[in-house]
Amino acid sequence: MLKLLALTAFAKEISMWRRHMLTVLVLGALSMRLLVQAVAAQTDTGATDTTLFDDLTAANRILYDQGVVDGFGHVSVRHPKDPTHFFMARSMAPALVTPADILAFDLQGEPIDAKGRAVYLERFIHSAIYKVRPDVQAIVHSHAPAVIPFGVTTVMLKPLYHMSSFLGPGVPVFDIHQSAGDTDMLIRNQQLGDALAAALGDKTVVLMRGHGAVAVGDSLVEGVFRAVYTEVNARLQAEALKLGSVTYLTPEEAILSMRTNKGIQARAWELWKRRVVAATP
Ligand code: MN
Repeated sequence: MLKLLALTAFAKEISMWRRHMLTVLVLGALSMRLLVQAVAAQTDTGATDTTLFDDLTAANRILYDQGVVDGFGHVSVRHPKDPTHFFMARSMAPALVTPADILAFDLQGEPIDAKGRAVYLERFIHSAIYKVRPDVQAIVHSHAPAVIPFGVTTVMLKPLYHMSSFLGPGVPVFDIHQSAGDTDMLIRNQQLGDALAAALGDKTVVLMRGHGAVAVGDSLVEGVFRAVYTEVNARLQAEALKLGSVTYLTPEEAILSMRTNKGIQARAWELWKRRVVAATP
């Protein structure tokens, strides 16, 4: 009997100890999670220009590495503390951008202090979109060859798999000829930027007839993700159309998938960033 009592007491002690350990573990995991979230928040808001400029540099290199941009194209990010400014490299090939090449611009597309350096002719793509889309924090402009056919034919770019579900709400085509007649095709002033921004509307991507595309996102990670998967979708769609009739994501599938992708797109960014950081001399 005594032995049984002793055993019961021992078992109780063990279970209390286990409960205690469980509390310690849960608290530990919680504080770890808070720490990770704090670090992530700092990165997301670009609390320091160093982090933000490093990320913008990485974005430039990633877009080249992933075949979205070549010698041309650009990516920008809105100033995390001053929504009337954004950051973008001086006029140069994206793959060669370093943090020292990054300049600040206002929402009229004018550099705050270019220090005599040349700026992109098409900076108005960025200024005009940031001006009317407060939700947009990053913008990518490219001439990715795969998207060009969808800007010059009646075939619409549509999401045929989950990675490009952000195309679900529709991909408008901006025809510069309708806004300005014969031009050199470039968005070289704020008026043309405004017309492009109007064509984009509340969508995620706009194609530019005979020129390229613009993808927007609520973070640098999302902007780059969308630019990459717009190009992949265009390639896959052209392939699929050769095979026959294509089934696209339904509008509801696109919405559900977009929600899921929000939570996982950072994984692709980490991988792409690792590749370009490792390759940087
Ligand atoms: Mn261009």
